[in-house]
Amino acid sequence: MKYIFGNWKENNTLSDVNAYIKEFKKQSLPTDVHYGLAVPYLYLQKMNKKLSKKCEIGVQNVSFSEKGEYTGEISAKMLSDFFCSFSLVGHSERRQKFKETNEEINQKVLKCFENGIMPILCVGETKQEKDEGKTKKVLKTQLTKGLSGIPLSKQFIVAYEPVWAIGTGLTPTPKEIEENIKYVKKVLEENIKKIGITVLYGGSVNPQNAKELLNASCVDGALVGGASLNAKKFVDIGKNLANVRR
Ligand code: PEP
Repeated sequence: MKYIFGNWKENNTLSDVNAYIKEFKKQSLPTDVHYGLAVPYLYLQKMNKKLSKKCEIGVQNVSFSEKGEYTGEISAKMLSDFFCSFSLVGHSERRQKFKETNEEINQKVLKCFENGIMPILCVGETKQEKDEGKTKKVLKTQLTKGLSGIPLSKQFIVAYEPVWAIGTGLTPTPKEIEENIKYVKKVLEENIKKIGITVLYGGSVNPQNAKELLNASCVDGALVGGASLNAKKFVDIGKNLANVRR
């Protein structure tokens, strides 16, 4: 099974959502690909009702707190009432634009676990960190701090997303993706004591480059931003990937 998750970010109006649902339902899905979409909170319930048989529906962020004086926040407990199955945590846009720290991200991961929501922890280096040869150091810090104190029985996903590849059209080479995902899995095994964790690649994936970028057997799938806004393109990424794997 391969995993293709989408991230809508702050996109799509209600009429776009209705059109997307219609278009998604028209697509024939490959049998060996699991699809998931992280949508804006407002559409969680509707998307769940209309698409959850074909595509897992989750959100893009969750509060680090349970309740209280945190104006504008949505807690994992609230989300669990609406059958939210997963949440992205620590996406680079949250880390950079909202100054989320590894400690807050860790709190968010723990809140997800407490409330039956699977976290998808996003990690990745900036261009400067890559150029300075710090990629592995950054990945190790983000993984060990973000997953500190997690219960060993719980399942989660990691998305390796080089910050410089997100929304830029730039991508690492397939060899770099393979090397960094193997490293993520090594840290998960050695430092977090978790084996067999699903690790996705994210950053400018589209139907044309999916085959090449996601070909290595250690790459379990993709987290897709821009191309997930079009239902056909999103599904096609999985179809192209499935062609390689069969
Ligand atoms: C993302 O937002 O996680 C992402 C990978 O975006 P894009 O596919 O547009 O680069």
